[in-house]
Amino acid sequence: MSNTINLKIKSKYVQTYQEKYPLIEKEIIENIDDLKEEGTTVNIMSPKNKFIAKGYYGRQNKGYGWVLTYDKNEQIDKNFFVKKIKNAIKKREDFYAEAKKNITTAFRVLNGEGDGVGGLTIDYFSESSASTCAGYYMLTWYSIGIYTFKEMIVEALKESIDCKGIYEKKRFDTKGQYLEDNSDFICGEEAPKPLIVRENNVNFAVYLDDGAMTGIFLDQKEVRKTIRDKYSKGKTVLNAFSYTSAFSVYAALGGALKTTSVDLAKRSLPKTSEQFCINDIDPKSQEIIVDDVFNYFKYAVKKQYKFDMVVLDPPSFARSKKMTFSVSKDYVKLLKEAISITNKNGIIVASTNSANFGMMKFRQFIEQAFREIGGKYDILETYSLSKDFTVCNEFKEGNYLKVVFIKKVK
Ligand code: SAH
Repeated sequence: MSNTINLKIKSKYVQTYQEKYPLIEKEIIENIDDLKEEGTTVNIMSPKNKFIAKGYYGRQNKGYGWVLTYDKNEQIDKNFFVKKIKNAIKKREDFYAEAKKNITTAFRVLNGEGDGVGGLTIDYFSESSASTCAGYYMLTWYSIGIYTFKEMIVEALKESIDCKGIYEKKRFDTKGQYLEDNSDFICGEEAPKPLIVRENNVNFAVYLDDGAMTGIFLDQKEVRKTIRDKYSKGKTVLNAFSYTSAFSVYAALGGALKTTSVDLAKRSLPKTSEQFCINDIDPKSQEIIVDDVFNYFKYAVKKQYKFDMVVLDPPSFARSKKMTFSVSKDYVKLLKEAISITNKNGIIVASTNSANFGMMKFRQFIEQAFREIGGKYDILETYSLSKDFTVCNEFKEGNYLKVVFIKKVK
């Protein structure tokens, strides 16, 4: 590991960092040219050369690294990570207890800066039949900087808890995209393919070593439960941008009359069928469509289809052959189309994981969409990240998830 370097920051930022803002931003730094190798530990120093915090240099989106400690004498070594991981595990005792009861066996164990280690997340997955909590752990690295600590962190994880196997996802190319590797397996025992986990008593097929995504987005577990328990019975449900169709499976289990799942990616078809099958639902009783959501909306309008519930969970940004979609630019349009195929008194579940705007702006999109088509609505409930995705008070932007349950009144 390279030596620690001192980063002198501009005086107007001193207070922010004394108040524990964790993200190291480029514009605060006076001597930016001293930053050379990612993974270097850095001391954040006031203009008068007083120590404020210690962190590491790692490029992640627009960030230049994360603060790790406010103790000048604390070393960033294996013991440091053991302490952070054990703390994070302790905060999730309830989740481990639920896993033992086989209710939910997949959750986030360490959520980046929310648990004091910006740039790293650790997720837990265990087999639905596992009688112990020794499950599989997935490490996601968000910068080359944090990745330089890999050996230490893997050792620290093994020392903190029984691990059956450890996997990783590298998400540190310049755009934060997943980097394809021969294998994402690190050590221990390899997980079954698929690994069947449980979430709120629902089965879920997860693939730990099959590209960027595992098959399940753990941050939406409360939203899925709400859809199943409160909104699905006797309803027709359209799930747009469905991927493996977790929302549809929950809706069907909640007693939906029929679910229709739409996703552009061909893989969504077998993956959706698989999720239905492992929950004893005949996929043939449901509709699974591989198509562009915007195309499908046009088709639905032409056929005069209407749904009692429409779930919208688009990626923040997507490029298809014909168009690019970006949440900030296109959500209003998406909502307007969804409203037009939702029954009166029906529900729209509008979701976004875009970190570029907050709940206020998202609610403005909803307001604008209804205004432009002369409709009326009520907001029934809103959700943000699930509890295992710890967010720190000093970095509220870490809570990127926004989900709004909207009732179409007119
Ligand atoms: N709702 C999903 C997650 C969605 S991920 C879940 O709960 O698990 C985003 C999905 O949108 C991806 O599967 C991607 O293939 C799909 N997608 C992106 N652009 C699309 C478009 N224009 N039409 C349909 N699907 C699209």
